[in-house]
Amino acid sequence: MPSEFALIERHFRRATPSARLGIGDDAALLAPAPGMELAVSTDLLLEGVHFLPQTMPEDVGWKTLAVNVSDLAAMGATPRWALLSCALPDADEEWLSRFAQGFFACAERFGIELVGGDTTRGARAFNVTILGEVPAGAALRRSGARVGEEIWISGTPGRAALGLAHLQGRIALAEPERSACLTALLRPQPRIDLGLALRGLASAAIDVSDGLLADLGHVLVASRLAARLAVAVSPSPTLAETCFLAGGDDYELLFTAPAERQHEVLAIGARLSLPLTCLGRCVAGPPGQLEVYTLAGEPVAIKARGYDHFA
Ligand code: ADP
Ligand code: MG
Repeated sequence: MPSEFALIERHFRRATPSARLGIGDDAALLAPAPGMELAVSTDLLLEGVHFLPQTMPEDVGWKTLAVNVSDLAAMGATPRWALLSCALPDADEEWLSRFAQGFFACAERFGIELVGGDTTRGARAFNVTILGEVPAGAALRRSGARVGEEIWISGTPGRAALGLAHLQGRIALAEPERSACLTALLRPQPRIDLGLALRGLASAAIDVSDGLLADLGHVLVASRLAARLAVAVSPSPTLAETCFLAGGDDYELLFTAPAERQHEVLAIGARLSLPLTCLGRCVAGPPGQLEVYTLAGEPVAIKARGYDHFA
């Protein structure tokens, strides 16, 4: 049996040129650039809750880091460093090396160095703490939305939830939709470039992890506003439309911006080749209240806003 330390050496220790001190001591030493604030976030992924037991280890590795990168995207921050804590049922090195392959593919894609962590035996679970930089005062918060501003969403939310339904045998997707939905579920693409472009333009932002309406609700509560949406769904939404409105795990960015700056938002979408869709507007009203209409102006029946671990 390899020791815990041998596993760390073999699978997790890589060069960390941007850290003063990386893996191997009691703590890493990091220095943010002058004038920058540290943005720090953490996320826990449990087998059976956040990923199915049969998921390929490369995909688990990618997603473990990607969901954390997405939180920094939503703050308009640049990711720099990560810590990774692993609970592993055994010292299965083939599983671990494949996990590390996916994890470091995501780390390289976003310029992140792994500077520490913890390793223990237990039911399979992964926790990442991510650190990024953002110019002091420039971070995108949930609380900055104003009455009259437009509400935008990136990409095509709902695919990850459809992919999960397919894997669970609740629906049967055909190609090319199947591949698109499974990729969305297993290899989410955090919107770092979009978050950076939105600094100084978006008034509030959040990444969609629980469901579009649920996460919009968080922005509205933090900003003490209500919203009125007009979206391309039917009055009694189909499964795909329900996934769009309330499916989790897409890691798209939802943000608000002044209506008179719509052309700037659209220019960013064009530059990044990323669809950006206006969903409606912020209105005065009970914090978090949502009215959802079809594009033809009919009210939409909403059964759930998203996923809640304790509901
Ligand atoms: P301590 O006993 O102080 O908690 P550990 O023996 O757990 O230290 O870890 C030794 C070193 O290896 C530390 O620098 C720690 O940050 C790093 N480390 C442990 N597990 C991991 C991991 N899964 N990924 C990256 N670094 C890790
Ligand atoms: Mg330890």
